[in-house]
Amino acid sequence: MSWPDGTPMFHNNVHRFAGNVEKMSAGRMRITVDSPGKHKAPLGIFDMVRSGAYEMGHTASYYYKGKDPATTFFTTTPFGMTPTEMNAWYYYGGGLELLDEVYARHNIVAFPAGNTHLQMGGWFKKEIHSISDLKGLKMRIPGLAGEVVSKVGMKPVSIPPGELYTSLERGTIDAVEWAGPANDEKLGFHKIAPFYYTGWHEPGAELHILINKSSFDTLPEDIKIIITVAAKEASFDMLSESFFRNTIAWQEMKKKNDIKIRTFPDDVLRVFKQANDELLNEIAIKSPLAGKIINSQKAFLDKAKEWSRITDADYLQLR
Ligand code: CA
Repeated sequence: MSWPDGTPMFHNNVHRFAGNVEKMSAGRMRITVDSPGKHKAPLGIFDMVRSGAYEMGHTASYYYKGKDPATTFFTTTPFGMTPTEMNAWYYYGGGLELLDEVYARHNIVAFPAGNTHLQMGGWFKKEIHSISDLKGLKMRIPGLAGEVVSKVGMKPVSIPPGELYTSLERGTIDAVEWAGPANDEKLGFHKIAPFYYTGWHEPGAELHILINKSSFDTLPEDIKIIITVAAKEASFDMLSESFFRNTIAWQEMKKKNDIKIRTFPDDVLRVFKQANDELLNEIAIKSPLAGKIINSQKAFLDKAKEWSRITDADYLQLR
């Protein structure tokens, strides 16, 4: 897995999946979980699974946009779908078929297997009043969002989860986004960077289990189904656990610390959104397959937005 041992939600999600597969298969399939402490390549899961060095790995698809830009959109898209919308797209709106199409080109089978829920926009040492405050700011922010902030003059860096605190403390980065209160509190970012921004960039990051396709294809049908069902359960369970733990962690965290919760100013969000739209167009031109995924997600989201507005958004307002 990409995650250091003990990472809340991430760690237990992987072990839960492995345990469920072993139990459901009555011990016919056993999965050994290694963390970066052992394999030393937190962002190398894609390559290790593709080559067969590991037959299976748990990671975030968007770490591999350099290998294949089409992998990015399976984790999350800035200003894109919420977890509910994403699940609808994955399981009923053609998402899984596109996931198969992209990963088959790399001899990998992929399953959605864990969702963080909506992520917070990150920790900043200084308050952001306008887009000029962001110029030259070094921030750990992976995936597409990293390219978006780069378009507006920030300097995005991709640092493995285990090295974030030290990087912030040493000033290698000025700001950091990781996930939400339950994960962030443990890493202690609030001690150095007290401005905690609400999210726009990862409206529900989906994680994935990647399996070497040559290995997967040799498995008996019932084991394939066990893996499929256990992955779906892992996705649901991590989403539920993330919502629960973040709810509790936020209450604890704000009691104990002087955290300044902020939403980016409207004009900053407008610039992010415009940069994001430009970026999606550029990627679609460069990679037709990525374009197919962008269009599939957009076509669904255009309709889902209205449904979400008259259901979830309306209800949240009136409650
Ligand atoms: Ca994140």
